Amino acid sequence: MFAKIKKWRENRIVAKSPFTRDDWQRMSQRMPVLDGLSEEQCKKLYRLATLFLHEKFISGAHDFEITDEVKQSIALQACLPVLELGLEWYDGWSSVIVYPGGFKSETESVDSFGVTHTGSSHRSGEAWLRGPVILSWTDVVQGGDRDGHNVVIHEFVHKLDMLNGRANGFPPMQPGMDPAAWTQFMSSAYADFQVTPKQGLDRYGATNPAEFFAVLSEVFFETPALLVDAYPELYTIMQQFFRQSPLERHAAR
Ligand SMILES: [Zn+2]
Repeated sequence: MFAKIKKWRENRIVAKSPFTRDDWQRMSQRMPVLDGLSEEQCKKLYRLATLFLHEKFISGAHDFEITDEVKQSIALQACLPVLELGLEWYDGWSSVIVYPGGFKSETESVDSFGVTHTGSSHRSGEAWLRGPVILSWTDVVQGGDRDGHNVVIHEFVHKLDMLNGRANGFPPMQPGMDPAAWTQFMSSAYADFQVTPKQGLDRYGATNPAEFFAVLSEVFFETPALLVDAYPELYTIMQQFFRQSPLERHAAR
């Protein structure tokens, strides 16, 4: 019964959306990362993106104007990781803040002596625990290409990771997945990545296990063949986690 009401409510939201299927299709065609999705998957993605825009509030920082293009581009890329999982995976927070370009972020870190250091660093995106996702538009625009870098996927995967607490590279598992296998494969690949650079995998992934998972996810969706080359077992468990096979999708195209 509850599922029926939910579906009815969602259908109403989709029916009232200002964006048509053609609008979504036009935007998708500008994003190679979405290449190879089936008719069925595209339909699902447009529906999710519509519901995403209904649930999340996107606002601009530094006078950045939130146009239809901004909304559609962020919604499509953000919904790709949850295409087969559902929007519930983004529950518990509601806003996306967009800067015109890279932004400065005040950082605070505690070293091994317990001393807190404050500083500022240049960012293209951030995801806050139970808080907003922050994005640089310049980087969002470049994200749609299939070059292994995608700030939207990166930050939204942090959100998936944060569903069970602080981001640590260990998101909630799908039914039937073995958490011990995830931990084992991720930890040994992370240890290896500390000393062995891999083609197509950003060194930023060596920062900590949360960044490693986010960087791997960018490659999983954009340049999956490079992930298979680097860590085939990780491609397989990430396929189980996201319930998608980007390698097959890109190959079929
Ligand atoms: Zn990150």
